[in-house]
Amino acid sequence: MSDCLFCKIVKGDIPSSKVYEDESVYGFKDINPMAKDHYLFIHKKHSKDFIEQVSTDPTQIIDIYKAIAKFTKEINLDQSGLRVVTNLGENGGQTVFHTHFHVLGGEKLRGFGA
Ligand code: 5GP
Ligand code: ZN
Repeated sequence: MSDCLFCKIVKGDIPSSKVYEDESVYGFKDINPMAKDHYLFIHKKHSKDFIEQVSTDPTQIIDIYKAIAKFTKEINLDQSGLRVVTNLGENGGQTVFHTHFHVLGGEKLRGFGA
């Protein structure tokens, strides 16, 4: 989508700190990290949130989770532990309307009973 921030990042029109890329998925550092390690993983094909994504093409979610697994194993983040989060809509705190999965780690994360 031409006016979408993350589509522009995928195209390279807006710079980002890339950490992962394959034919369908792009991973980059969050500009405002909420943990020591904070990455965003997105599908190159635009959807506004995971509900739209799963209704349009659920295999995109598998592509993203495979990419997250590959990347986090490569940097050994799987050993220390991590959290994957996707926000949806206003109460969920979504601010960018291109489906994205936050990957958080590098320190003990608070919340969710931790
Ligand atoms: P949301 O709040 O929609 O779940 O997450 C959006 C995330 O995108 C936020 O964590 C925010 O810091 C990040 N973000 C917003 N604009 C940019 C940007 O231009 N570059 C990068 N790398 N991250 C961004
Ligand atoms: Zn987009």
